[in-house]
Amino acid sequence: MKARLHYLYQKFLVNRAVVLMYHRIATPESDIWDIAVSPSNFEQQLTFLKRHFNVIPLSELAEVVARKKIKRKTVSITFDDGYVDNYVTAKPLLEKYGLPATFFIASGNIGQETPFWWDELEQLILFAEMLPQVFSLPFYENGGKTDLKEESFLSPELRLKHTTWKACEVEPPTLRAHLYYSLWQQLKPLPYQEQQARMKLIREWAGHVVTHPELKSMSVDQLKNLGSNLLEIGTHTVTHPALAFHDVAFQKQEIFENRKCLQEITGQEANLIAYPYGNYNEDTLNSVASLNFKAAFTTEERPINKQAHQYRLGRYQVKNLPFHESSSIFNQW
Ligand SMILES: [Zn+2]
Repeated sequence: MKARLHYLYQKFLVNRAVVLMYHRIATPESDIWDIAVSPSNFEQQLTFLKRHFNVIPLSELAEVVARKKIKRKTVSITFDDGYVDNYVTAKPLLEKYGLPATFFIASGNIGQETPFWWDELEQLILFAEMLPQVFSLPFYENGGKTDLKEESFLSPELRLKHTTWKACEVEPPTLRAHLYYSLWQQLKPLPYQEQQARMKLIREWAGHVVTHPELKSMSVDQLKNLGSNLLEIGTHTVTHPALAFHDVAFQKQEIFENRKCLQEITGQEANLIAYPYGNYNEDTLNSVASLNFKAAFTTEERPINKQAHQYRLGRYQVKNLPFHESSSIFNQW
């Protein structure tokens, strides 16, 4: 065991760093995008990181990358989106272990009652007890309509299939899951107003209102109290668009307004950015350069070395598992 650990340390991060990406610290009924880590696994991960790695603030990591002076075993912790559990659950645990983290916040959802559109869509389509049998709305491109047949009613078997489905790994296993995925693909590239207009139609069709307080973003007060000398705030756009689907003026405005809003609320600088969905193009890179961001992060899974592009820095999505010395994040290079 000791020899194995020693081997990994030798191998680990010679002039490389790893940035970890979290979204939620919670135990939801379903987690189709695999973005929730349970509080107990999160705490175990933090103790492992504290014991074995050099965990530094992301702003410091951006500086050492710029100076090409990355130390071995360097790790930074990040959170995307601004879910309320980041404040309620993650912040106290990070402070308990004295570990720094950066929270990339989509400011448009701060203090709002409705969840992000993808969470609401998941609840409506996959978990509503009863849905109309036929889905057919003017914008729907999948042959015009979907017949949900007996899946109109959410049987216990159907619910179980949805609670265990991982959309990033497995084809949709049910008619409802197909409908969800098809709608998700159609909504993702749209601007916020169009997403919301379509969500309104979907909501009316489903005849349900999603009330899941745990899916909400932080309140303005929580965001104000989130930052500390350990916890930093980062830019993640206002309305969480897939940036590459939009023109450069729109991209720049989303990024600029988000940073301004976060700086006003928190009093912190927000000169690091994470691209929503990890989605970006050449215009995005030019926008963050012209707005003088210190560094930008994608969702592309790769370690950061001396050659890394300042605005295309990789991150690893953390799974809901305890860390150990052979966790894939730490031993795949
Ligand atoms: Zn995001």
